[in-house]
Amino acid sequence: MPFEALQDELDTRATQGLLRYRHELQSAQGTRVKVNGKPFLSFSSNDYLGLADHPQLLAALQTGTQQYGLGAGASHLVSGHFSAHEELEQALAEFVDKPAALLFSSGYLANLGAVQALVGRRDKIFADKLNHASLNDAMLLSRAQVQRYRHNDMAHLAQSLAQPHSGRKLVITDAVFSMDGDLALLPELLALCVQYDAWLLVDDAHGFGILGEHGRGSLFHHRDLSDLASPRIIYMATLGKAAGVSGAFIAAEQVVIDTLVQNARSYIYTTASPPALSCAVLASLRLFQKEEWRRTQLWKLVSQLRAGLIGLPWALMHSDTPIQPLLVGNNNVAVALSEALRTRGIWVPAIRPPTVPQGTARLRISLSAAHSEQDVAQLISALHELAH
Ligand SMILES: *Cc1c(COP(=O)(O)O)cnc(C)c1O
Repeated sequence: MPFEALQDELDTRATQGLLRYRHELQSAQGTRVKVNGKPFLSFSSNDYLGLADHPQLLAALQTGTQQYGLGAGASHLVSGHFSAHEELEQALAEFVDKPAALLFSSGYLANLGAVQALVGRRDKIFADKLNHASLNDAMLLSRAQVQRYRHNDMAHLAQSLAQPHSGRKLVITDAVFSMDGDLALLPELLALCVQYDAWLLVDDAHGFGILGEHGRGSLFHHRDLSDLASPRIIYMATLGKAAGVSGAFIAAEQVVIDTLVQNARSYIYTTASPPALSCAVLASLRLFQKEEWRRTQLWKLVSQLRAGLIGLPWALMHSDTPIQPLLVGNNNVAVALSEALRTRGIWVPAIRPPTVPQGTARLRISLSAAHSEQDVAQLISALHELAH
C-alpha cells in the first residue's frame, strides 16, 4: 500500500467536513443547469452577465473556427499567435484605457506570470490577506519577500511600505474580493503606491464586465475616473467570468507588457489559447457595451436579495457586487444548508476553509443578469424555510 498516508489525509478531511466534490453538469452554464439528470436553479457560477451560453458568442466562436481552426498549435512566441489574439489584445487595451494588453490562457497563469516576471528575490510584495489563491501562489513563485497586510487595512499597509527597502515594491490586491464580494480601496491603495513609489497590481476577475461604465471594470468604478488612470497600475482581468468565455489578460504600460512577453514563464511556455476563443471574447465586449440592461438587472437583483434575507439567523456579508455570501460559520452547517437547498432544486455552493478563513464557512450566492425576480424570490423563501 504505497499511498496509505494519502488515504489517511483524505479520511481526515472527510471527518472535518472539508472533502471537496465535483458535480457533473449535463447542460450549458446558466441559471438553469442539469446536474446528475436533475434540473436546478443555480446561484453558483461567475457567469454574472449570463453570457456563457449567449448565441452571439457561440456564433463568433463558430466563425472563428472556420477561419482559424481549433487548436493554436504552438505557444505565442513560436507560431501560435493569431490575428484574433492580436485584435482582442488591442480591443481590451482600449476598453480599459491602457496602452497595451497581453492575453493569457487563464487568470491563474496571468497572475503567476506577471508577478514572477516583474519582481524577484531583491524585491518586496505587499499583499492583502484575502487575496485570491493565484496571487498567493504567484508571490511564492516570484521568490520576492512578502508582507501581507490585514484585509483593506491601509494603515497596516502604509506601515509596511514605510520600512526602508532598496528593491522594487509591488502591492497586490483583488479589486473585488472573490469570496466576500467587497471592494479594494483602490484610490487609497494608489495614493500609498505613489507616496512610497510602489507598483500596483489589481486583479479584477470579478469587476471586469460588472463595475464601471459599460463594465469597463473597477478602475472605472470610482467617482473621479482620472484618479485611477495611473501608469503605475498593472491591471489584470479574467475572461471566463462575466465575459463568459475563458482566459485572462494583463493591461498596462507598453514597457510592462514587453517585459511580460520576454519574462513571464506562464506566457512563454504554454500553448496559446484557441484563437476562436478570442473571437468569442470580442463578441462579449460588444455585448458589455450594447446591453447595459444586464448590469441594471444585476443591481436590481442584488437589492432584492439583500432586502429579502433580512431576519435570517445568518447574515449576508457586506457586498455591493453580484457575489453575496451568507456567513454561516461552521463547515458542516454550511454544507448541510447547501444540501438542503439542493433537495429543493436550488444550487448554492458552500465555501469552506482553506478557501476562506477558519470559522467563516459560507454559502456563496452569486447572482446573474439572467436570473429573474422570481428566481431570487424562490431562493429567499427557501432560505427562510430552512431557518425555521
Ligand atoms: C477566478 C479568479 C482568478 C483565476 O482566473 P481563471 O481564469 O479562472 O484562472 C484569479 N483571480 C481571482 C480574484 C479570481 O476570482
